[in-house]
Amino acid sequence: MLSCRELVRHSSEYVEGELTGWSKWSLKLHLFICRRCSRYVRHLRTTIDALAMLGRGQTEPSREFMARMQQRYRDWAVAHDQPGS
Ligand SMILES: [Zn+2]
Repeated sequence: MLSCRELVRHSSEYVEGELTGWSKWSLKLHLFICRRCSRYVRHLRTTIDALAMLGRGQTEPSREFMARMQQRYRDWAVAHDQPGS
């Protein structure tokens, strides 16, 4: 079973559809039973969608900006992560 921390580490790959096979399913399973992580992934997806929308017809958000946003969410998640919960 994936820990919340591991989920956060792979969440952006998941949201961007880069995960396949078992990694993807174990992540989905975790999201199914863990409300906190499912909320986190929903926020992450919303952010990425919003950035994609902003990027349409304009200049793409820089990779640096994306990385900073993702890092901010990771920090948020880590701060809310209680090991063993
Ligand atoms: Zn979790």
